[in-house]
Amino acid sequence: MKIVIHSVNNTANQEILSKYNEKLLICGNVHLSDNFASADNTHKLILENTAVCEIFDFIEWNIGQRPDSRDEQGGILLGKRYYDEEQDIHFVIVSKVITAIGALESSGYLDITHECWCDMHQRKDAYNEETGEELVIVGWFHTHPNMLSCFMSGTDRNTQNLFFNSENTYSIVINPQRHLLKAFRAKECHPTQAFLIVNDVTTEDN
Ligand SMILES: [Zn+2]
Repeated sequence: MKIVIHSVNNTANQEILSKYNEKLLICGNVHLSDNFASADNTHKLILENTAVCEIFDFIEWNIGQRPDSRDEQGGILLGKRYYDEEQDIHFVIVSKVITAIGALESSGYLDITHECWCDMHQRKDAYNEETGEELVIVGWFHTHPNMLSCFMSGTDRNTQNLFFNSENTYSIVINPQRHLLKAFRAKECHPTQAFLIVNDVTTEDN
C-alpha cells in the first residue's frame, strides 16, 4: 500500500467545547469500527449518515463481479472537532467527504497528485462557501481492496505522521470486499472508536 500526498493544508485544529452526549449524537443503526474494542474511550470519531453514504457510494464493493483486482481509493474527511471538558472526551463529527477523483490508483497504490489535492481543497472551499459551514479536514480514508486486511502500512503511517498528525485527526481504512473497516488516530495510529451512522444507506451498484 502506497499513498503519496504531495501537499495538504491541515490547519484549523481547534476544538469546540461541547458536551458529548452519545445518546443524542449517535442514534439509529450504527456500524462500529472493527478495532473498536481495542481503542481507548477518550476519543470518538462519528460519521454522520451523509458522510457514510458519500464513502459507500464512492468505493467499489461486490466481490466476484469483476475478474480483475480493484484499485485503492481514498479521500478526505471534513467535519468539526469537539471537546467535552467534564468527561474528558475528544470527539469529531464528520459530515462531509471529499473523494479523491483523478488520483493515480492501483491495487496497492494510491497517488493523490498535487492536482488532485488542489481539486479536493477547491471542492472543500466551495462546499463551505455554499453551505456557510466551516468544516475542516479532520482526517482521511482509503481502501485496502481485494483480500488485504485493514491496517496502517508503513507508507500509511508515514502519511499520517506527515499530514494528519494531531491528536484529534483520524484515518479510516476500509476493505469493501471483506466488509472490514478500522479507524486510527494521531501520528501513532492508535485504534479508534468510530461510529458510522448507517441509517438509510443506499449505494449505487458498482
Ligand atoms: Zn493503506
